[in-house]
Order: sequence, then C-alpha cells, then structure tokens
Amino acid sequence: MKSWLTGTVAHKTRWNDTHYSLAIEAQGPAFTAGQFIRVGMDLEGERIGRPYSLVNPPHAPLFEIFFNIVPEGPLSSRLAALEAGDSVLLTEAANGLLTLAEVPQHSRDLWMLATGTGVGPFLSMLQTDEPWQRFENVVLGYGVRYYADLAYRELIEHLQQEHAGRFHFVPYITRESAGDGFACRIPETITDGRLEQRIGVTLDPSRSHVMLCGHSGMIGDAVNSLETRGMRRHRRREPGHISTEKYH
Ligand SMILES: Cc1cc2nc3c(=O)[nH]c(=O)nc-3n(C[C@H](O)[C@H](O)[C@H](O)COP(=O)(O)OP(=O)(O)OC[C@H]3O[C@@H](n4cnc5c(N)ncnc54)[C@H](O)[C@@H]3O)c2cc1C
Repeated sequence: MKSWLTGTVAHKTRWNDTHYSLAIEAQGPAFTAGQFIRVGMDLEGERIGRPYSLVNPPHAPLFEIFFNIVPEGPLSSRLAALEAGDSVLLTEAANGLLTLAEVPQHSRDLWMLATGTGVGPFLSMLQTDEPWQRFENVVLGYGVRYYADLAYRELIEHLQQEHAGRFHFVPYITRESAGDGFACRIPETITDGRLEQRIGVTLDPSRSHVMLCGHSGMIGDAVNSLETRGMRRHRRREPGHISTEKYH
C-alpha cells in the first residue's frame, strides 16, 4: 500500500500550451537528486497516480515537477489545470536509481542527455554541489521539438555562468531551425561525433558516464551508439557507463 501525503500547489509555471511545472508545498518526502515520486489526484472516485521526477534540489523548500500534457492521458491534463492553493497528492517515498550515487567514483566527465521533460532530474542534480565537486566536465544535452518547449532556460543560463568552461549545454530542436541548437536527434550526434566536436570533450569509457532520460526511442538509439564506443549499461554488480530512465 502506498502512503500518500496531501500537498498544496504553491505556484504553477505555464511554459507553453503543453508544458507546465508545479511547485508543491508538502511535508516530505525525503529524496536524492534525480529521484521521482508519484503524484496523484482523486478523479471520478478513483485515485490516479503517476511517477514524476523532482526538478528541485533536495535542499529547496518546494517540490517541483515538470510535465507535458498527454492528450489521451488521464492525469497530466488535470495536473496542468491545477492552480495555486489547490491540493495534490504525493507519495511519501521517492524512488529511482538515476542519481549521482550510482555513478562510479572513477568517472571524470558526466554526460546528461534528455528529451523533453526528462531534463527534470538533471536540473535537480545540477543544483546540488556534487556534480561540481566530482566532475571535470558536465554536459547537458536537451532535446525538444520546438524552441518554445525548451524550459528552464534561465536556470540553465545561470548554471552556464556559474560553471563556465566546465558546463556544456547543448540544445537540440528537431522540428524547426532556431538558435544554435542541433536540428536533429541526440543519438545522431553521438554516432557521427558532432556532439563531442562541438564541446571539445570526448566520450571515453575510461572517464565518461552517460545518463539518459526521457523518450525510450532516444534512449535505445543512444545506448546502441554508445555500445559501439565500448560503453555498457551500468549495474551495481557490474559497473558500466550508461544509466537510463524511460518516461514513455
Ligand atoms: C520513472 C518515471 C518518471 C517520470 N517522470 C516524468 C516527469 O518528470 N515528467 C513527465 O512529463 N512525465 C514523467 N513520466 C511520465 C508520467 O508518469 C505520465 O505517464 C505522464 O505525465 C502522462 O500521464 P497521464 O496519466 O496523462 O497518461 P498515462 O496514462 O500515464 O500515459 C498515456 C500514454 O502516454 C504516454 N506518455 C507518458 N508520458 C508521456 C510524455 N511525457 N509524452 C508523451 N507521451 C507520454 C504513455 O506511455 C502512454 O502510452 C515519468 C514516467 C516514469 C516511468
């Protein structure tokens, strides 16, 4: 049986018609940056809960989730309709292994590659001290369809200023040409070497750890490409170089 806590929406960010964030005031749960909780609502007499990664770092006072509306899905559109002051349910426990504690200690460069709302757990980790204490280079590749889907730009710019030279942000915008982002999918730029060329850091199994989050198609293709470079999935019993979390 899951235990649920009742939280209150403190504020909502509407990034565009389909992408939203909710900052929620609640007592707990304790979590590690990169983990997810279940968020729920009672809808037509039934409790519907779905996993959502936390975007805030553990030291922040509010619990924040970032999500897109899935038109045929029951919960995401209802979450998007909540307003400040409304109640929302959260599970008491957080889960997930997409955390820095799972990254082998010898890794020197951390590659975080996300599609869409999969950027959330990476933003949580990037707002803690640990990546900046442990890694020489931190890469954030963030793939979206349209430029307007690129959320948390202010936070990312702030991280770029704070960690200039070590933090490499690479946007990917697949359905329009905008800004200086790649106009293709993330895996293509791993396969043809353009990602490494752009930032001047090499994907090397002796020093790189790659975290992938979001759409299963991107994750599958990226894993295939990384495997041809001598990397393998990380498991506690068999340390490797690739950690993944699939949203859909
Ligand atoms: C470990 C984990 C963490 C997750 N964290 C997040 C998060 O931080 N932010 C977030 O937006 N989603 C996240 N998801 C997906 C989320 O749990 C919901 O599935 C999503 O918000 C849709 O909910 P729903 O009830 O409206 O539709 P559902 O009934 O959950 O899904 C309906 C259909 O839409 C697909 N789908 C699920 N998510 C998406 C999506 N983002 N875009 C397009 N299709 C999708 C499902 O595979 C399913 O086929 C996570 C999933 C997992 C497994």
